[in-house]
Amino acid sequence: MESLREFAKETKESLVKIEKENLISLAPYIDEENDFNNPPDEWREKYNLSLDGFSGFPFPEPSEEEKTKIIEKFLNGIEKLLNPESNWTFLKPFSLSLKYCVKCNTCAEACHVYIGSGKKEIYRPNFRSEILRRIYKRYFTPSGKLLKSFVGADIEATYTAIRRLLELAYRCTLCRRCVLYCPVGIDNGLIARELRKLFSQELGMAPVEVYKKGTRLHLKTGSSTGMGPTAFRDIIKFIEEEIHEKIGKKITIPVDKKGADILLLHNGGEYLAWPDHIAAFSILFDLAGINYTLSSETLGYDGVNYGAWYDDVELARVGLRHLQIAYDLGVKKLVIGECGHSHKVYTIIFDRILPASSPLWNIQRESCLPLMWEIVKSGRIKFDPMRNNFPVTMHDSCNIVRLMGIMNPQRQIIKALTPGTFREMNPNCSYNYCCGGGSGFAIIRSLNFPVWKNKVSIRLKTKQILETFDDVLDKNIPKLVVATCSNCKGAIRDMIHTYRLFDRFKINYSGLAELIVNAIATIPPFLNLEELPE
Ligand code: SF4
Ligand code: SF4
Repeated sequence: MESLREFAKETKESLVKIEKENLISLAPYIDEENDFNNPPDEWREKYNLSLDGFSGFPFPEPSEEEKTKIIEKFLNGIEKLLNPESNWTFLKPFSLSLKYCVKCNTCAEACHVYIGSGKKEIYRPNFRSEILRRIYKRYFTPSGKLLKSFVGADIEATYTAIRRLLELAYRCTLCRRCVLYCPVGIDNGLIARELRKLFSQELGMAPVEVYKKGTRLHLKTGSSTGMGPTAFRDIIKFIEEEIHEKIGKKITIPVDKKGADILLLHNGGEYLAWPDHIAAFSILFDLAGINYTLSSETLGYDGVNYGAWYDDVELARVGLRHLQIAYDLGVKKLVIGECGHSHKVYTIIFDRILPASSPLWNIQRESCLPLMWEIVKSGRIKFDPMRNNFPVTMHDSCNIVRLMGIMNPQRQIIKALTPGTFREMNPNCSYNYCCGGGSGFAIIRSLNFPVWKNKVSIRLKTKQILETFDDVLDKNIPKLVVATCSNCKGAIRDMIHTYRLFDRFKINYSGLAELIVNAIATIPPFLNLEELPE
């Protein structure tokens, strides 16, 4: 409660300090150094590190006049979040979550950030929600306006409180594990997301990687990677050549094929970071005879939609473009590749965004995973599970598994295509722990945010993976973590580098498509676990 009382006090001092001794231990697997280096003094002068000594927002401190405007806009933003005219997407679940929390704190033990940090109070799922609740009560309810702290309306909307709340909105991966544990179904992940929305839409504050280098770049160039249509076509040619070299077979990857059954929408980052993933999908769909296409239209080849993490307007702009491209191609279905937040946007959130009269409703929106299981079990392709004769585990994507409930197809596939070498993480399925890189954390690189992400947010998942492979950690035994989400793969890649999991234990990672193609008996093996993909 100390942190709650001190939250609004005007200061640049950090509210809490993160130290290695307090974090959950990675022993006996890893003996870590204390590498939480203090940020340089000039950072403390220039930026605001007043929450926990970390920040992902490299903007200079505002003047006093600007601070007053920020406070005004922030309070306006709260009003808008609770107004049906301005919050047409999430008003109901947001307002109910704000209203009905019984403050039992059962949710705390569910959160990988809170647990990983060694139970720092500021990272409790309900902590940030409670700050928002108390500010709301103080400024928007008659009892709060009149009686202030006597009725629990004790947090003033100071600049420091608002600035700390901005950081705090980015100390939650929106994984929604806490929702499963809450006796009344409060969605603290949604509250964090709506706070991000307030900051973005009302104050223009969002991490540069998700806004300027994210949705803005996506809308301008066609991809959040900056890849334009010409570069996309060049990469497709390159991947076709790679496939030929790798499997000795020429495959033409269909692009802009009108009237195909399916428009396949990959996460655009895959083309540059993991082209083997695109190659694996192309081989699988080609051998299975799937009538699909990719699109080379601007945006049509990058299925990410970062707006899901922070801004409804950006979310709608990108999403409508994707659906329009599918509509213009005349496909029956939009099939989402291995990207968790893209699954969330197109199969869940877009139902809230499309007007009932829109012809875009005619396009089915589906996950790739059931289709991949259909292919594997159809008998159209001959598989040899012995090709995957190494310990394999799977990280469940929060968006695909917990949010959407798709948990069996990927398990059936791995069980069918490994000779009994699959092992579950514990906990798994809906109760999985987030990879720690969700909601944009895997791509936010500003200031010292990546240190916080690597040391705190991905910590519990690191421990869980090591425990899963506890009996086969010998570095002569190659091991694979499969993740069906590009963002999770990015977090696992960072984990492997941060904690040297490949050098120490030969732990490697890949998407699901790569594991499937590795088991195809009629072509050479696809995976090389002796080398990290990047
Ligand atoms: S478990 Fe639910 S009701 Fe209890 S503190 Fe957390 S959000 Fe509130
Ligand atoms: S959504 Fe996930 S990260 Fe956020 S508070 Fe809940 S459990 Fe923690």
